[in-house]
Amino acid sequence: MVQIKDRYRLYIGGEWVAPSTRQYFPTYDPSTEETLAEVAKAGPRDIDKAVRAARRALPAWAGMKGAARARVLFAIARILQERAREFAILETLDNGKPIRESRDIDIPLAAAHFFYYAGWTDKLEYALREPGHKPAPVGVCGQIIPWNFPLLMAAWKLAPALACGNTVVLKPAETSPLTCLLLVEVLEEAGVPPGVVNILTGAGETGAALVAHEGVDKIAFTGSTEVGKAIQAKIAGTGKRLTLELGGKGAHLVFEDAALDQAVEGIVRGIFFNQGQVCCAGSRLLVEESIENTLLELLKRRLSTLRIGAPLDKNTDLGAIHSKEQMTRVRSYLESGQDEGAVLWQAFFEAPKKGFWCPPCLFSKVTPSMKIAREEIFGPVLTIQTFRTPQEAIALANNSNYGLSAGVWTDKGSKIFALSKQLRAGVVWANTFNQFDPASPFGGYKESGFGREGGLHGLLPYLARR
Ligand code: NAP
Ligand code: MG
Repeated sequence: MVQIKDRYRLYIGGEWVAPSTRQYFPTYDPSTEETLAEVAKAGPRDIDKAVRAARRALPAWAGMKGAARARVLFAIARILQERAREFAILETLDNGKPIRESRDIDIPLAAAHFFYYAGWTDKLEYALREPGHKPAPVGVCGQIIPWNFPLLMAAWKLAPALACGNTVVLKPAETSPLTCLLLVEVLEEAGVPPGVVNILTGAGETGAALVAHEGVDKIAFTGSTEVGKAIQAKIAGTGKRLTLELGGKGAHLVFEDAALDQAVEGIVRGIFFNQGQVCCAGSRLLVEESIENTLLELLKRRLSTLRIGAPLDKNTDLGAIHSKEQMTRVRSYLESGQDEGAVLWQAFFEAPKKGFWCPPCLFSKVTPSMKIAREEIFGPVLTIQTFRTPQEAIALANNSNYGLSAGVWTDKGSKIFALSKQLRAGVVWANTFNQFDPASPFGGYKESGFGREGGLHGLLPYLARR
């Protein structure tokens, strides 16, 4: 069903080439710790080769009629749909996420992004023309993505870049590169010309070399705030364009007039989707004081029914934590929370001997100054704080260095509008959480980054005016 090669080389200029470093490194299944394959480590010479290939491919790709490029993007979307099962299994193996999520969310959404931007491709010239200017591609784009949604993040980046006529050098995350490498087959079958998309695996230094390369016109980065800041510093003054999609610490507000059973489902989706390894996770639950105990009991009951285990089992709700490093990081927050006086509750779970696992965790008695309330944990850990008035809820929600996502649960529409206007977050969900649509822009404020992906806004970073 899924054919995994023993070894993957680099994809440059439409060919698989050995890395100049001669080095390969393994990628694992985090639920078993077994090696799935070895992938190449690209060095600066490979980056240079890929950037040159992208530059050579640029004039023909950018000069193609919009309708012709649209056909290629539509074909990518169609083939991804046809091969969705294969991609879902590979994503789950390499990342540890439940197959239900890769099958129903990651892969269909990746295809949807290509469909959506295929639709824009032949309309850019008319819809986005300003007097005296014609929209044109920016040029060669370096795109760097994280491990939590490997194929989906690749789709978010590739689809708008290609729609606008840019060429790309993409670097997948070190620990989850396999679906991006399988995507090469789709790109070739869809008719993406050689050099238009180059995929180079490696680790942080590979990303850094891509950022530093003089021939790159734009960097699009999704990952941690720490690395995002380093990239911004590196790029300053070079004239390169930059968009950053960074971390988050999403506030999830629940008022006493909310439909609590539905809110519980939203809270679960908000923080336990992808084991909480989601930039826009609703990781800070803010509850109206009068319903704190009721909601806490409802949540504990619900969390005790979640199934944790084999990611490929279609009944699994929570799969494996993505890596040993991530597991260590989550554990350190579980300790720090308790050290600082918060009360930890965990659903019962007997972890298998192999793999990285963490049951759903709730922290109550949390105060805003605690590390667990301020820092992105990126794991299945929810902190709970209370408020008495909407003003207090807003103040708590906005008291964060991040500003990526937020959510509001209330029965009153007027309250939703009033509150969501005051929430300093790029996305605000109302009576739902973690819903995504390619037509809707996504991105952050403050240390969550700048620039938007998705929707019409997602095209703008990939367009220049000529
Ligand atoms: P990360 O460590 O920042 O890595 C992201 C990517 O950058 C990886 O491909 C990484 O390579 C590469 N990289 C590392 N150091 C680099 C450097 N100095 N220069 C250039 N590239 C470099 O983040 P992660 O642990 O993979 O992902 C988790 C983070 O991503 C979380 O903070 C999460 O909130 C954020 N995220 C944000 C969004 C969003 O849309 N806002 C979406 C998903 C995730 P290697 O890892 O291979 O070394
Ligand atoms: Mg892996």
